[in-house]
Amino acid sequence: MATSTIDLHAPYKERVKLALQNLHLKTALSRSTVRLSSARVAAMTAVDGQRLRDQTRQMKEYVLRNLPDLLEELERNITANGGHVHWARDASEAQAIVLEIARQANVQKVVKSKSMVTEEIHLNQALEEAGLKVVETDLGEYIIQLAGEPPSHIVAPVVHKRLEDISAVFQEKLDMPPTLDPEQMCAIARARLRQEFLTAEMGISGVNFAIAETGTVCIVTNEGNGRMVTSMPRVYVAVMGIEKLVPTVEDAFLQYQALCRSSTGQQCSVYLSLTSGPRREGDVDGPEEFHVVLLDNGRSDMLARGYGEALLCVRCGACLNVCPVYREIGGHAYGSTYSGPIGAVISPLLPAQVTNAEKLPHASSLCGACRDACPVKIDLPRLLLDLRSDQVEANQAPWLERQAMEIFVRTMSSRRSYENAGKLASLASNTMAALSGGNLKFMPPPLSAWTQSRDFPPFAKKSFRELWAERMARRRTIQRGG
Ligand code: SF4
Repeated sequence: MATSTIDLHAPYKERVKLALQNLHLKTALSRSTVRLSSARVAAMTAVDGQRLRDQTRQMKEYVLRNLPDLLEELERNITANGGHVHWARDASEAQAIVLEIARQANVQKVVKSKSMVTEEIHLNQALEEAGLKVVETDLGEYIIQLAGEPPSHIVAPVVHKRLEDISAVFQEKLDMPPTLDPEQMCAIARARLRQEFLTAEMGISGVNFAIAETGTVCIVTNEGNGRMVTSMPRVYVAVMGIEKLVPTVEDAFLQYQALCRSSTGQQCSVYLSLTSGPRREGDVDGPEEFHVVLLDNGRSDMLARGYGEALLCVRCGACLNVCPVYREIGGHAYGSTYSGPIGAVISPLLPAQVTNAEKLPHASSLCGACRDACPVKIDLPRLLLDLRSDQVEANQAPWLERQAMEIFVRTMSSRRSYENAGKLASLASNTMAALSGGNLKFMPPPLSAWTQSRDFPPFAKKSFRELWAERMARRRTIQRGG
């Protein structure tokens, strides 16, 4: 049961309102997003960042163009290495596959490493409903699991909490004495998690990328938990979206570099765990069983509908950190596993139950900061505009907006009506502004949505055309020597 300060199922407007009223959230968000953005800029300018972005995009475009072949190559190589590959069309198939693996291996407890894709398919909930104990082992994920909340950022799941909030969670759930010392807090969490690792029969993780030519799944982490999840329990299950592929080992390191530099500003992560199959004779550790679940869950549809560019995403979170909207409202206000600009694009396209998903493409100022930060150069503002345009074509735009647009089009198609409308707007706005001392403080609905939070300056008294005509008339007079 989520105890997030924001009810994810509340209407979108309500979620945003609650987020904007939460001053703690604002403090936490500005601390982290500014730090992560600056680190990214420094790390990308330390190398030829533009070239890195171009090469990563070209490689990911190649993956999308050759997706079926590469997936089959991955499957062949995983199987040849002694692993098992499972194909899941949607969330319920993926849940059923993982549950069946757990049942066959007599699993009671699962340790997990951070994974957005398992959040996407609500895997924890399905496992817990089947009676399994599930423990998140990434420190950020562990904190929000204790708090009963979903992650609010793609790479920093607990970005919405301040140190003080985390301390309160540990005091309540882990009986920690009051402290704000991060080292002491980490030590307490580590001691608890160690016991969980030693007693879990199954490890589950997402996949940052899988290498088709070797059948290797890779996870990028800064905590040793990823390595333990993939190697300590008897059974290891990796769940990946079908687009999380790279063709070769060289491509894997290209994406690794782009990912690390863009997400946390590191040259490389502390850990990179590569699993190519179950434990072999003579190996000191590793799982006895290795399974990979290849999840579609709307991705093929996304490609078919012309939104394939969104599948180039390497889930670095850079677009979230620079987004002025995300920085104000945080991840929970989006109500989806995926937040920020990339979340606003993919959430309405995935078969997830997100309340008011249709509003998310409008949660953007279209400033373009996300496109400039993206290591794969995804044109997020264009995708957001495409989604909005789809809504208009499907007649899903609000009635008032459609009427307003029709009037706008009619007005703009005739010079006379455009000029008359300009005169009328100038006269009305200047009269109202004079009554309220300079700027408009109030406009009737729906324009009141603007004046509720900002003043509206009145229209210019004379249009550009009028000013130009006057100027030309003056010039002619001077030329005639008048
Ligand atoms: S859209 Fe680009 S910037 Fe955003 S998470 Fe994906 S790869 Fe990173």
